[in-house]
Amino acid sequence: MTEPHAGADPTQFTCRAVKDGDEWVIDGWKYFSSNAKTASFLIVMCVTNPDINPYQGMSMFLVPTETPGVNIVRNVGLYGEPMNEGFHALIHYEGVRVPAEALLGGEGQAFAIAQTRLGGGRIHHGMRTIGLAQKALDMLCERALSRETQGSLLADKQFVQGYIADSYAQLVQFRLFVLYTAWEIDKYDDYKKVRKDIATAKIVMPTMLHDIAWRAMQVHGALGTTNEMPFFTMIHGAAVMGLADGPTEVHKVTVARQVLRDHRGTTEMFPTEWIPARTDAAREKYADLLELEVGNL
Ligand SMILES: Cc1cc2nc3c(=O)[nH]c(=O)nc-3n(C[C@H](O)[C@H](O)[C@H](O)COP(=O)(O)OP(=O)(O)OC[C@H]3O[C@@H](n4cnc5c(N)ncnc54)[C@H](O)[C@@H]3O)c2cc1C
Repeated sequence: MTEPHAGADPTQFTCRAVKDGDEWVIDGWKYFSSNAKTASFLIVMCVTNPDINPYQGMSMFLVPTETPGVNIVRNVGLYGEPMNEGFHALIHYEGVRVPAEALLGGEGQAFAIAQTRLGGGRIHHGMRTIGLAQKALDMLCERALSRETQGSLLADKQFVQGYIADSYAQLVQFRLFVLYTAWEIDKYDDYKKVRKDIATAKIVMPTMLHDIAWRAMQVHGALGTTNEMPFFTMIHGAAVMGLADGPTEVHKVTVARQVLRDHRGTTEMFPTEWIPARTDAAREKYADLLELEVGNL
């Protein structure tokens, strides 16, 4: 078996589609195809021209799940789901034939389509994560106002007040940032122009959800760790958010590159904000005023 997935580096895709008359023939593996077992069609990204830059050499196809040669090898379960009964399929495409109309967009447009889908998908992850984190904070507060120990409510203990304040601060920052990014998406109507902020939201969301869910679990004591409360599901969800639609590390690289685009290095001996040079520049710029001030003394 060849490497079944390229993961965070789609330039390593090996799943291939070759034209044969009016049809395309797909061969290869795909891993973690979400909801494949219940889907009536699959969106498959394939190499259609291996001789050019992968960003131009890949295309997307709509493949009905019932097409001969589409073999779901395993339905991978996330943590907590039964083995082999999950929703993320390992699929082997073996000589899968689809008509020319199955090509989504144009030949070589897979990356452009994927980026558009992923832009909206990632900010949508952010919106759902806000809902989960708000739920965790609500549960934290309810517990803090209900549980009395060592003579007072948890809500009266400074540690717990710190949990609440930190959680609120993280959540409100994230909520506003997602709102701002959604506003940018509406304004520019071009995901490429909002890439930096979408990636930033994607970086922040796992930690934000993890931290709030963890604190909420902690104040629920033993009960919080059981499968009678949803905290581990939320914490697992935070881990998933650090991977699905791209790992946090890859988004950090995107953000850093985009931020650096707006900056320049210096060929001077000292940094631009070197205080002695700034002071000299200010003295020169305001020399007339300084003379006036000194003259008025
Ligand atoms: C719940 C869920 C649903 C998913 N659904 C789908 C789906 O429907 N279709 C689909 O195609 N994929 C899907 N994925 C796959 C997802 O896109 C990949 O998991 C993700 O891109 C990471 O790839 P990988 O798992 O192979 O990890 P790898 O690429 O092996 O990366 C593993 C780790 O290596 C590190 N790493 C990777 N690259 C870099 C880098 N450039 N710099 C620094 N560190 C790096 C990071 O720590 C990363 O977490 C899903 C994943 C999850 C968890």
